[in-house]
Amino acid sequence: MGNVTSLNQKWALDLLMGCLKINGVTGKEAAIAKHITASLINAGVSKNLIKYDKAHQEIPLPTECGNIIVTLPGNVKGQRLLFSTHMDTVPLCAGAVPVLKGKKITAAGKTALGGDNRTGVACLIYLAAKLMKENIPHPPITLLFTVREESGLFGARYVKTEDLGSPSMGFNVDGRGPEGITIGAVGAERFEVEIFGKASHAGVYPEKGISSIMVASIALAKIQRDGWFGKIQKKEGEGTSNIGVFSGKDMTSAGEATNVVTDYVYLKGEARSHDSKFIKVIRQHYQEAFEFAANQVVDDQKKKAKIKFHYSQDYFPFKLKENEEVIAKTLRASKTMGYESILKTGNGGLDANWLVKHGIPTITFGAGQNNIHTVEEFVDVDAFWRGCQFTVELAKS
Ligand SMILES: [Zn+2]
Repeated sequence: MGNVTSLNQKWALDLLMGCLKINGVTGKEAAIAKHITASLINAGVSKNLIKYDKAHQEIPLPTECGNIIVTLPGNVKGQRLLFSTHMDTVPLCAGAVPVLKGKKITAAGKTALGGDNRTGVACLIYLAAKLMKENIPHPPITLLFTVREESGLFGARYVKTEDLGSPSMGFNVDGRGPEGITIGAVGAERFEVEIFGKASHAGVYPEKGISSIMVASIALAKIQRDGWFGKIQKKEGEGTSNIGVFSGKDMTSAGEATNVVTDYVYLKGEARSHDSKFIKVIRQHYQEAFEFAANQVVDDQKKKAKIKFHYSQDYFPFKLKENEEVIAKTLRASKTMGYESILKTGNGGLDANWLVKHGIPTITFGAGQNNIHTVEEFVDVDAFWRGCQFTVELAKS
């Protein structure tokens, strides 16, 4: 850690490269969490202000550690502000090796990079260093580094508002640049379908079997034909849906032999919309399609497959009101920085979905991630630096 004057672009970039080098795919955040903690201490944050919460004990998937929460006192009076970001990366980032070339950071091999969301992580550590090393007037500030964002926004879902010091508003760093301000996002439901048919010899007694594969196929064909698959545009609303898994038990293939009528199929899908009610409408069409399909595929005794349909709310849609103080504050900072900002709503879930649900009005902007979740992912170094400076501007009193 250098002195005050060295908190320049080079310093921030080194910090980012350090964060990109550490693997930490969703659920396996222990190593990156350790790195974040060490970097914060190095930035001048006192160790007793850095805490792990117990979110990982509530998350229904194995997770190595909880969220990191840093509560910094203010040097001027004011309401507490929250700055959040997620520390995990998508599984495609496993083994990523960052390479800096000119104004771009890419991954060396056939992996994604993890700029989503180590750009956010580096931004918040940079902010901490600025606040600790320079005499910037700022209100009390909480930094939140969440786990398991990429696998279902779990860290933000299970964080406790009290642990965050009940902040008045939030700024989430997770996106391309500081000029795009996300003030709303879709909500989503996930669902699982199990189809219990009946096995039989497909050559000798096919009429005694009930094919789960056929039930699933008829259901999906109906869904597609009726306009409820993919991009959905209906009079009553708009949204999207997808089936992401079509398998047998424990992710094995659906059926194993050509001479057996398949007795079991497992599917997993999702429905999204900016309108809470419409998410349910989409999901109900899936439910009905599977019931419809079950009636089409019967054995010689007129018996049919049993459908087990299970769904759960993934996250809630939100849209901040244009007169929210968090938006006004963001636009003031944008103006100071000379940005032409745009307010937008997104079609992906964000940690902000849950932070807003927890009562913390939260906007989201970015710090240089591009082509996320693909092997083409890269970080735009200048956008990253702008993101760092914007974060500091927002933290100022
Ligand atoms: Zn992200």
